[in-house]
Amino acid sequence: MKKDHLPAGHASRTEKPTNLIARRTFLERTATFLVTAGIAAGGLARAKAAEKYDKVDVAWQNSPKDGQSCANCRFWDGVGGCEIVAGEFAPDDWCAVWVEA
Ligand code: SF4
Repeated sequence: MKKDHLPAGHASRTEKPTNLIARRTFLERTATFLVTAGIAAGGLARAKAAEKYDKVDVAWQNSPKDGQSCANCRFWDGVGGCEIVAGEFAPDDWCAVWVEA
């Protein structure tokens, strides 16, 4: 019996044309899915960043107000960031969307 001398991944002469079409379609759809998923993930990350309030829109101030501050707010990340307001914050900062932790 004669052996096929084609490199790995190449269709053999005995492979049916329908298998070749199915494989090609699968590869094309997989590539399309991966590109689409990458674009969607990038868009989601940008959308998340864009959803944050600006400091000026939430009456941010660099001092506590009535015992409220970033340090005791549920949105404080503990290291200078806020889940819902863009920018850097000190523990003693405050803004109008403060919520008790
Ligand atoms: S007080 Fe305002 S800026 Fe500070 S953590 Fe809370 S929501 Fe964010």
